[in-house]
Amino acid sequence: MDCVFCRIVKGELPARVVYEDEQVMAFHDINPQAPIHVLLIPKRHVENLSEEIPPELAHALVRGIRETVRRLNVRDYRIISNSGRDAGQEVFHLHFHIIAGLELPPDTV
Ligand code: AMP
Repeated sequence: MDCVFCRIVKGELPARVVYEDEQVMAFHDINPQAPIHVLLIPKRHVENLSEEIPPELAHALVRGIRETVRRLNVRDYRIISNSGRDAGQEVFHLHFHIIAGLELPPDTV
């Protein structure tokens, strides 16, 4: 399987890493949509949130978001996870967009 985020985890592709532990990794989005735009992913391949996620990985993801935000030194932020093609998912390796650094418009939610 040729997954761009798996290749980042393996060190085959470069990334500007913000946070990393045994289970998760956070790095800057290559095409930022805000002053701060970071992606938090599980290191093991999970397609999206429609897949079964073991509780310890779910916990690591939430903890990873908190730790990443702390390192980014931001107070307010938005988390987005596109799940499925119709929702705009382009990379089919679970990721949470962490967006901050501007006054976020209300958008659809
Ligand atoms: P999504 O549309 O939710 O699947 O978002 C995929 C995100 O991955 C987009 O914001 C892309 O800019 C980002 N992206 C794709 N390739 C890379 C890469 N090599 N390094 C960092 N971000 C990437």
